[in-house]
Amino acid sequence: MDILLVEDSATLRASMAAVLQEMGHRVHHAVSGEMCLHLIESCQHNLLYNLVLMDVELPGLDGFETTRLLREMLSSQWIPIIFVTGVTDEASYAKGIEAGGDDYLAKPVSGVILKAKIRAMERIADMQREMARLNLELRSTSERDTLTQLLNRRAFTHNAERCWQQDRRSGNSCAVIMVDVDHFKQYNDTYGHIEGDKCLWRVAAAIQGVMAGDTQLVARYGGEEFIALLSNTSDAQARAAAETIRQAVYDLAIEHATCAEKRITVSVGVSLSHNLGNHSLDRLITAADKQLYRAKNTGRNRTAFVELDSHKTILISVSNLDDQIFLCQDLASRGNIVTAENGAECIAIAQYIIPDIVVIGTNVRGDSGACICGELKQLEATANIPVVLLREGSTVARCSHKGSADCAVAFCDWVGITPFIEQVLS
Ligand code: GH3
Ligand code: MG
Ligand code: MG
Ligand code: MG
Repeated sequence: MDILLVEDSATLRASMAAVLQEMGHRVHHAVSGEMCLHLIESCQHNLLYNLVLMDVELPGLDGFETTRLLREMLSSQWIPIIFVTGVTDEASYAKGIEAGGDDYLAKPVSGVILKAKIRAMERIADMQREMARLNLELRSTSERDTLTQLLNRRAFTHNAERCWQQDRRSGNSCAVIMVDVDHFKQYNDTYGHIEGDKCLWRVAAAIQGVMAGDTQLVARYGGEEFIALLSNTSDAQARAAAETIRQAVYDLAIEHATCAEKRITVSVGVSLSHNLGNHSLDRLITAADKQLYRAKNTGRNRTAFVELDSHKTILISVSNLDDQIFLCQDLASRGNIVTAENGAECIAIAQYIIPDIVVIGTNVRGDSGACICGELKQLEATANIPVVLLREGSTVARCSHKGSADCAVAFCDWVGITPFIEQVLS
């Protein structure tokens, strides 16, 4: 054992050290209470000593006071402390135990008694160590998912909340990534549950491989769903992490014959906030989940991103009311939506509010979308606003207006319009 001997008398220090060394222990010396505290403090996180033998009568801090401060300093860690003193009255004994000591030895110390006491303390210390080890093992088991060995959902929630609070206090940004395996039910149905488990294990390892940094938490959120929290991150980093996860799973090339890609893929939803004071972690998770379902609905094997604090303005003018409602729902999380009934209104509103993007249907009432686009590009105030033309009906409306549809950022069909708009806005 490593024993810290706190004793101001050089003679006693030498004689006790001789006895202890003869027993096979390593002896470290402190000549005062202050020195003892200093030695313990300097190795607090990796406690060097297994036992303290504490003289009571010391210059400066006495043994009782030193012990009390030492217990305070170590809080949850425990090392046995035995008092060695010439004062052996009952009151002193009680005071010593009260201060945090574990036993009491009278000077002059008999070698036989010292040996016995140290042996007893050794047994208790061994038990304490074993308990600490089991506790650690138990905590680790209760935090891990048995199949993938990632954190489980409960542990994620606990740890993520701590990271979130830390980022909020430091004014950092934070992102949540939700990952869901595509057509996994079919995979189980085709290859069986055991192969399904193996597949989940490989997907989990791939995700963990991408998220190796210590500012990142990864967990199995449930079934074939995974979640990651990126602490102190940027838009670009969050997007890149999501895309790397998607690609890493794709690159595993796990055969999935009954789906279009012929291999296992994942859909990924990402949400990010630069201003954590305005949101809760739950809100960020819900937003990522929503993006995940958007990635699913727009074709799977893709990522979708939302920034919670963005206050972008999107001006929409399409001919069909149902289409308009659908677009509004889809883009609501991306910014403020303003709608225009017809071409003239669209141009008037655009000049007034200068939106970040304009979405125009090719058959919008009153005028063709391409003509409105052309006009917007002619006006100084609106010339630089990106315009996306949504292909409505079977043919693209033609327009002879100068500028016309050539000025649009793109023609889009329904499929792909929302991710495209997101890409333009980001
Ligand atoms: P989508 O692309 O829409 O996500 O379709 P999906 O089939 O992946 O989604 P759905 O929610 O219909 O099915 C999820 C499947 O994941 C059903 C369930 O049996 C399977 N699953 C969940 N947990 C496990 C697991 O631990 N092992 C295995 N083998 N399968 C699991
Ligand atoms: Mg003394
Ligand atoms: Mg799922
Ligand atoms: Mg799924």
